[in-house]
Amino acid sequence: MTQNPNVPLIHTVSVVTLSVDDLSVQYQSQGKKIHAVDHISFSFSEGESLGIAGESGCGKSTLGLAVMKTLQENASVSGKILFDDISILETSDSEFTKDIRWKQVSMIFQGAMNSLDPVFTIKKQFMEILQKHNFQGDHVQTIESAISSVGLSHSVLDKYPHEISGGMKQRVVIAMALILKPKMVIADEPTTALDVLVQAQIMILLKKLKKDGLSIILISHDLGIISEIAEKVGIMYAGQIVEFGNMEEIYKNPKHPYTVALLDSIPKLQETKKITPLKGNPPSLVNPPSGCRFYDRCPQAMEKCKQDPPKIKTASGFVMCWLHE
Ligand code: ATP
Ligand code: SF4
Repeated sequence: MTQNPNVPLIHTVSVVTLSVDDLSVQYQSQGKKIHAVDHISFSFSEGESLGIAGESGCGKSTLGLAVMKTLQENASVSGKILFDDISILETSDSEFTKDIRWKQVSMIFQGAMNSLDPVFTIKKQFMEILQKHNFQGDHVQTIESAISSVGLSHSVLDKYPHEISGGMKQRVVIAMALILKPKMVIADEPTTALDVLVQAQIMILLKKLKKDGLSIILISHDLGIISEIAEKVGIMYAGQIVEFGNMEEIYKNPKHPYTVALLDSIPKLQETKKITPLKGNPPSLVNPPSGCRFYDRCPQAMEKCKQDPPKIKTASGFVMCWLHE
């Protein structure tokens, strides 16, 4: 399915700033505290897109869910999240639902294409979103415009989820996230579980949305995919952002040994070098080590790395590593 370049995209062009300051999220589970996000700070703005990369379980989705104020009930959160001048954590749930969620910032949840309701047509599922948000405009026209903007024909609206392909379902889910014209969308692993050709088509769609002014936070375990779209990137490891800065700078000159390992795991066509998978596992988030969390897997670990690493300023961000003290 190719995108029709003549169909206008549905969101408004705008400039947003997201600033996260000392954010921590802990889950209470079976009598234990899981430190899923631990004292994270970063910011980005002005039509930029941000990638959050890291292994499974490092806290990427939790970070996205905290920005969307949709964490599960067993989560406790502290710190500050500013979206433009809105302090997200200080906004009441009802106010956030009424004015911000889906209207200013929305999320393409991980695996959302598999949670489309099998007993309702796609149109009915769009209608429900608009009704839930008390949308006042022309419902049918808005839905048709949303579905066109992601390169699908209107005939998809009369289909049930099982009647369309995985790539079409993912486009439907993206259209749903955009229907109330948010300024920013958080896309959590939007290409995972799709074959490579469909992955490429979804990336083309996201790039087009970005070109038209949408700010995107792309969450992925795949730094290669992130490098296609994001100007800024945060590398997450065991609940922390260990390196943050401009994508190009980090891609060309990664500073944290974990970032180096992530980049080494991306296959490159022009290189014959063997891919080196990272050995070992990240530490438990129930009782994370007090020193550098990458210590057990780091080829350059030193004695002092048993202490908490300093946050060293780089040209466009920071790196948390004793090597760059
Ligand atoms: P993935 O890519 O596999 O989704 P992730 O990097 O997005 O991983 P999170 O899903 O944010 O990571 O999970 C971070 C940690 O928090 C993991 O150890 C996970 O098991 C734990 N976790 C996530 N949600 C909950 C929850 N509701 N209750 C308890 N623990 C949770
Ligand atoms: Fe490796 Fe030490 Fe840097 Fe941690 S602080 S990544 S152990 S060199």
